[in-house]
Amino acid sequence: MKFEDYPIAAEIKRSLEAAGFKKPTDIQFKAIPAVMKGEDVLAIAQTGTGKTAAFAIPVVDKLHKQKTSSRSEGIKCVVMVPTRELAIQIADVFVSISRHTKVKTFSVFGGVEQGPQIAKLEKGIDILVSTPGRMFDLVSQGHIKLDRVDTLILDEADHMLDLGFIKDIQDLIRHLPKRRQTLFFSATIDEKIKKLAYSLVRNAIRIQISPKNPVAKNIDHSVAFVAMDDKRFFLERVIRQNAEKKILVFVRTKVRAERVYNALERMEIKSLTIHGDKEQADRLTAMNEFKKGNVKVLIATDVSARGIDIPNVDYVINYDLPEQPENYVHRVGRTGRGMQKGIAVSFCSEEEKPVLDQIQQYLDKPIAVVKLTAEDYAETLEFTTDAPDDLGALMREVEEFESRKKKKGKK
Ligand code: ADP
Ligand code: MG
Repeated sequence: MKFEDYPIAAEIKRSLEAAGFKKPTDIQFKAIPAVMKGEDVLAIAQTGTGKTAAFAIPVVDKLHKQKTSSRSEGIKCVVMVPTRELAIQIADVFVSISRHTKVKTFSVFGGVEQGPQIAKLEKGIDILVSTPGRMFDLVSQGHIKLDRVDTLILDEADHMLDLGFIKDIQDLIRHLPKRRQTLFFSATIDEKIKKLAYSLVRNAIRIQISPKNPVAKNIDHSVAFVAMDDKRFFLERVIRQNAEKKILVFVRTKVRAERVYNALERMEIKSLTIHGDKEQADRLTAMNEFKKGNVKVLIATDVSARGIDIPNVDYVINYDLPEQPENYVHRVGRTGRGMQKGIAVSFCSEEEKPVLDQIQQYLDKPIAVVKLTAEDYAETLEFTTDAPDDLGALMREVEEFESRKKKKGKK
């Protein structure tokens, strides 16, 4: 079935056509009718499969059909997301789908001044996309009224219901009318969170696409065993050998993000960082420069692991393995979106092997191993333009590696 044949407003079809959306994706095919019927939905589908439009299309359609004038009768739909970048991105999708309608969407998030957000809210909006902290502040100050909300959406639902956010979400729900539609969307969910989600709604229907494999099929993902101190040389090699490609590098901490940035700078490789310690304006600039392709390498912490839809990310490199196994799925899911293919490689040091085990348990299957030969290893170290801290130590490592390999070969 094509979007043309859907019982949705012609104004929305026009926008979908302009965006190049002809046919619904699997999750859209399954979720749109259920959402249009007014059901509560828990939808789990892999990264990059179009979950945003799966909830945005039916919500905009409903509001468009209800609206008689361009005046807002108060906020009708609230979408909760974990990060500022995601709030902006999701709001953009709503805006683009509702371009030819009178439905108005706006996003609010912390880290910037409240004033302009309050002014915009006072003009009247229909759909509010927000991170929990700022939303809660504005609600308690009386700038946001939620008594007309009839649809609540939690994107990245498992994360929104997890420890860091659950209290804010519960507080928020207390402000909402009891009769409402609630939609949960994510690429991952576990049993505990699923129960919690069901406890917040009446009769949620569950829609799950390819539950057996949480990593999207367009992603070719593998792991390479690399000593912690050598990771930067392997990163350099991947970047230089893929000079035209967009590469997203995930690291464990903000400090490590800056450290990798400095190492790349020494190697004269242009990159940018994005993490929780950066000013909001710098975070946005980094994201936009990377989106546009002006900078080919973006170094990020897990704040950017979820939901972010950047076109044409060719490579995801897990410079460090993620500590939460589900974040593996989200991080590698920044590539291979929509119809595109993507490559993801994780650098795993000896110390990180237990974390790798957890990830593989979570995926319920082993991750393919990139076989690095001693020659690869030696070549990579030779290849670098960075001054190794201790060339002697590195060479000893190569020798050890070789002798280990020989021993193995003999067995
Ligand atoms: P998810 O939330 O499932 O990770 P997104 O909603 O961010 O995925 O969508 C991923 C990409 O797929 C976006 O760039 C979006 O524009 C594109 N997309 C979504 N639905 C369709 C469709 N029906 N046809 C073509 N492209 C689509
Ligand atoms: Mg998403």
